[in-house]
Amino acid sequence: MITPKIIKVPRRTLLILGGPAGSGKSTFAAQRFGDTAIVSSDHCRAMICDDENNQQVNRDTFDLFYYIIQKRLLLGRFTVADSTALHPDARRKLRELSRRSGYLGCLLIFNIPAEVCLERNRQRHRLVEEQVIAYHAGLLQRTLLDAPYEGWEQVHVLGLQDMDAVVQIEDAPSVSL
Ligand code: GDP
Ligand code: MG
Repeated sequence: MITPKIIKVPRRTLLILGGPAGSGKSTFAAQRFGDTAIVSSDHCRAMICDDENNQQVNRDTFDLFYYIIQKRLLLGRFTVADSTALHPDARRKLRELSRRSGYLGCLLIFNIPAEVCLERNRQRHRLVEEQVIAYHAGLLQRTLLDAPYEGWEQVHVLGLQDMDAVVQIEDAPSVSL
């Protein structure tokens, strides 16, 4: 029997999902975490312009994305950052936010072949342009090389066979004085 990958993190964790469009990040998050724990850049984009695909509002989208994440971390909430996180600058920003709040930074890289992302993209109602996925595939290779040296407390690479991975949130034992 093949057992699923188990990822153990403390409650004060910023879980960063990274990977191409169509690699299954939002599905993975929705299957495991409550709606409000997931901060999605696509939702932030939709919140300000009613269009999850509008790349013209990236700056405002990410202002909002980081702002919500920061507020959650200040309140000690377990938080999932759902964006592609394929650009080094984007990962650096999330790394800074988690560090500043004394959070563990856990990066999950969705290492899903471009053909699978393209196929899944074709099947969903909200299509991402195919050349964007090809571009993401290149950034993914770079991310796989760079991530181990970016100072994350945990980096996990999830392949197609790891979509059943379990994320265990462990509460610190209470200390009695
Ligand atoms: P994201 O762009 O990385 O957030 O990807 P999504 O989570 O939106 O998934 C893209 C499409 O792939 C959706 O239509 C999902 O239903 C589908 N999908 C996601 N994960 C899986 C999976 O593990 N297996 C299969 N067969 N489809 C999946
Ligand atoms: Mg998504």
